[in-house]
Amino acid sequence: MSEFLLKPRICFGQDALAVLTEVNAQRALLVTDQAMVKFGLADRVTTILRARGVDVQIWDDVVADPDIATVVRGMKQMDSCAPDLVVALGGGSVIDAAKAVIFTLAQTRPDAARQRPQFVAIPTTSGTGSEVTSFSVVKAHAEKLVLVDPSLLPDIAILDPTLVASVPPAITADTGMDVLCHALEAYVSTAASDFSDALAEKVVQQVFRYLPTCWRNGGDLLAREKMHNASCMAGMAFTNASLGVTHSLAHALGGVFRVPHGRANALLMASVVAWNADVNGQCDTDAARKYARLAHLLDLPAHTVREGVASLLVAIETLKEEMQMPAGIGATAVDAADFERRLPEMVGQALRDSCTPTNPRTPDAQALTELYRQAWSGAPLARANG
Ligand code: NAD
Repeated sequence: MSEFLLKPRICFGQDALAVLTEVNAQRALLVTDQAMVKFGLADRVTTILRARGVDVQIWDDVVADPDIATVVRGMKQMDSCAPDLVVALGGGSVIDAAKAVIFTLAQTRPDAARQRPQFVAIPTTSGTGSEVTSFSVVKAHAEKLVLVDPSLLPDIAILDPTLVASVPPAITADTGMDVLCHALEAYVSTAASDFSDALAEKVVQQVFRYLPTCWRNGGDLLAREKMHNASCMAGMAFTNASLGVTHSLAHALGGVFRVPHGRANALLMASVVAWNADVNGQCDTDAARKYARLAHLLDLPAHTVREGVASLLVAIETLKEEMQMPAGIGATAVDAADFERRLPEMVGQALRDSCTPTNPRTPDAQALTELYRQAWSGAPLARANG
């Protein structure tokens, strides 16, 4: 038996925050970060809740890529507030921190498990899809650990594109490539299904059509809405189908060298697509055929599987170039000698990452080492075309 889980309730569109007026609560904890306060987004949420008579406390010092210390701070906040509503307003880091705090409290304290607060997630980046996933990524020292549990799912997800308009171009590019990576990895995952495929295909089309516009003109609310919805649909796909080794390698790269999550995926994605498709060999894997199908859906040359895979690889690299993203890890601030020195550690982390088992091709340490080295220079295109 297979299953496809659909949760939470998703409210979307420019007036979607209005659903907060329906929420019944007495004490709310708003989990957020300084950017949300600075851009006035936290105020928009607290104003609605306070007008409803809800007592709102704010925890606004969640850091990017939350670590265990952040989760411990959040547990203290929850203890002092005892909320019956938790609202997470921010990017994946904020939503994951809120998830990890609620989860850890429920695991460690039976009374907290009985009184789980309602949980509303309001993403302010179009990237992780965390508002609809049963995943939470928490850093322990230099390793990103992925918690996976259905109880991490929020009750309500609010997708308001006006909350994403302030995301600067570089973060728009990073997070947008994360969306693409979620769709690509869910699509070729060994746990893919008709349901996740349908979502992934739509996502890939929307990313190529709308992400460059979001990058050029962050105030284009139609493009922002399409990317915000794509991010959420990609989350729905991968929370069911899981992901692959681009994410495993990106988690380790991000944990060790603090490369932002979406950028790490962008740097690794083409190398993994080329490897999954076996472009240096027969190029007739199931993954290759699915990549070629995506190329066809994108109206790219795809008369043969090899041509389709090559077209998709060119499209990915062109999208990166268009948004002025680094072509390879070597073009980032990561030091070459440090990278080589820490390769075995990163490879070890990636091998045990929870995204690795569903990759369509089973990697060993040597394959992952080669993928990292290839992503360092970032040039799988010549081989695909050759
Ligand atoms: P992020 O949450 O770390 O945010 C990146 C930066 O953007 C931060 O400085 C933040 O303050 C800023 N920002 C957020 N919204 C903004 C806005 N509207 N205007 C201006 N600035 C804004 O980045 P992210 O990519 O959304 O999340 C990354 C984290 O999520 C990583 O830790 C990653 O591992 C994790 N992740 C989780 C899942 C999941 O399913 N739970 C999936 C993928 C990634």
